[in-house]
Amino acid sequence: MPSYDPNNIFAKILRGELPCYKVYEDDKALAFLDIMPRAPGHTLVLPKAPARNILDVPAADLAHVATVAQKIAKAAMTAFAADGITVQQFNEGAGGQVVFHLHVHVIPRKAGQPMKPPAAEKEKPEVLAEQARTLAAALAAG
Ligand code: 5GP
Repeated sequence: MPSYDPNNIFAKILRGELPCYKVYEDDKALAFLDIMPRAPGHTLVLPKAPARNILDVPAADLAHVATVAQKIAKAAMTAFAADGITVQQFNEGAGGQVVFHLHVHVIPRKAGQPMKPPAAEKEKPEVLAEQARTLAAALAAG
């Protein structure tokens, strides 16, 4: 497996070199909206420490990301009036991974509405900003 590339796009977001629509942050994890959402509220949860994917992440960092993904899933049920949540996580190109810093997708779902294909369409900045505010508020409300 190739080694971690510190210039991947999520590493740049983690360093604050590129912007994101942040929904949650603690000392070990960051969560922000996917700019090409497969459904409204599609969120990505990342460990802050460098890890390419599930094959090299320390178990404790993976467990923390899973804990944050669960918090976001619960908040997203309310924030987006979802009927369910799809959680996805891809590893290496053959496994569907495109950005090589570990991330978990948390995707709110409505009954009967299929997900868009990956990277189908960029969402409008004002829509993402409003959704990030809504989800962050639901998280803060517990
Ligand atoms: P994966 O590597 O698991 O296949 O997915 C990478 C995800 O990152 C895709 O869902 C894609 O829409 C998203 N993505 C790609 N570039 C950016 C970006 O610059 N910002 C954000 N927030 N998401 C991105």
